[in-house]
Amino acid sequence: MSVSGVLIVALYFVLVCTPAALAAWLAPPAGGFAYEAGRAAALTGFAILVLQTVLAARWKYASRPFGLDIVFRFHRNIALFAGVLLVAHPILLAAGGAGPGLILRLDAPWYIWLGRIALVLLLLNLVLSACRNRLRIAFERWRFVHDVVGPLLLVVAFTHAWFIGGDLQHPLIRTVSAALLAGGVAIFVYHRLIRPVLLRRHPWRVTAVQPETDTVCTLELEPPASQATPDYLPGQWHFLTLHRNRGLPHEEHHFTISSSPTRPGRVTSTIKNIGDFTATIPDTRVGDTASVHTAFGRFSYRVHPDESDLVFIAGGIGITPLMSMLRCMSDRKDGRRVLLLYANRTEDAIVFRDELDTIAAGHDPHLTVVHVISRPGDDWTGEKGHIDRDLLQRRVQGDLSKKTFYICGPAPLMDAAIADLAAMGVKDRQIRTEIFRLID
Ligand SMILES: Cc1cc2nc3c(=O)[nH]c(=O)nc-3n(C[C@H](O)[C@H](O)[C@H](O)COP(=O)(O)OP(=O)(O)OC[C@H]3O[C@@H](n4cnc5c(N)ncnc54)[C@H](O)[C@@H]3O)c2cc1C
Repeated sequence: MSVSGVLIVALYFVLVCTPAALAAWLAPPAGGFAYEAGRAAALTGFAILVLQTVLAARWKYASRPFGLDIVFRFHRNIALFAGVLLVAHPILLAAGGAGPGLILRLDAPWYIWLGRIALVLLLLNLVLSACRNRLRIAFERWRFVHDVVGPLLLVVAFTHAWFIGGDLQHPLIRTVSAALLAGGVAIFVYHRLIRPVLLRRHPWRVTAVQPETDTVCTLELEPPASQATPDYLPGQWHFLTLHRNRGLPHEEHHFTISSSPTRPGRVTSTIKNIGDFTATIPDTRVGDTASVHTAFGRFSYRVHPDESDLVFIAGGIGITPLMSMLRCMSDRKDGRRVLLLYANRTEDAIVFRDELDTIAAGHDPHLTVVHVISRPGDDWTGEKGHIDRDLLQRRVQGDLSKKTFYICGPAPLMDAAIADLAAMGVKDRQIRTEIFRLID
């Protein structure tokens, strides 16, 4: 991990532990070990929940050392840990002297009820997030509920702690906890309300809508005149919100930037129709506007400049970040060796076929393209079936320990390729992946 990564992790843990550490130091003990552990659990759980707003806010500086996907996964897993701490809080207090009435009494004071309500809100958020797919809740609906319930539960929990006294009696602990809450709410408001307005004030413009295959379409966008094309690495991605009116959905989605940073002025995203929103991409018109929040991700050979022998494994639309890298290498006359294994169901589904041939016909990069078709037509003479261990062993020649593998595609293809490569002796550190699902 880079130095900045270590510093960010250290700062995170200091902030999470500060309220409980201050309470242990400054607040007089109010009970036995279980009681004190219950107080510490509440303060630590609260600090974790406040910092969830920071983790979700897509701060480029904070996410760069890890990648936003890792930050979002941490956001999800640490929420479960906070849930455990906050459920343990009343149980430990009850066991440590407050008695079962703390949990069971119906005639408890209103501020105890606030604590119970905060706990229910937290559990609701955790269950909806963990079971969204199983409950078939649409992403946009889930996010709306998540965005309302998250900040609400923080305010309710803080009010509970403030009026119950105890932990927050000492002025310094009050100040630190209130500052944490104020910071978290401010970051949330900026992220969910102010930033979208700022982005919309400087709209990008759609300059081309180019069908690639029956189900894949490329959108070309130009930044506002006041703005140069933002810096990005080949393989990175952006958040895109199309403002098309005409009754078309107005949702933010993430897509790889399939163009290369070597061609400034315009960026493209190449998008496959897989659902409600992506089905409307061909209805986009030249002149439509868009909000673009760019650029994220670490899936780029430019992050690892020393790797010179690359194997790209793509399935379907997973070609987009790899195409951006190949375009960049080609423009930069980068003489790296690249083997591209590209799986598709049919020949017609191959995206960028001609351009891949053109790059392969040059020398920089030294590109070899192997198309793998699972449902080939009668006249297909290339590789048939899937990218499996047999194909990898036949096609990936030379010293495996000197190669780096970049994999992007559907989950089954990625899982199988990673398992096959591991069985062939390829180390984890030689494998880089991009998953086309940030939040599941
Ligand atoms: C880093 C990254 C890069 C990607 N690059 C590309 C690309 O280059 N080309 C491409 O075609 N696809 C890409 N995707 C996938 C693309 O984001 C999804 O296909 C698209 O959001 C699905 O939207 P839908 O409503 O049409 O499909 P649906 O079937 O409605 O949704 C499928 C799943 O996508 C997720 N999803 C839906 N809406 C949203 C949303 N607003 N925000 C976040 N997630 C949502 C949910 O998990 C949902 O279950 C990328 C994804 C990621 C994470």
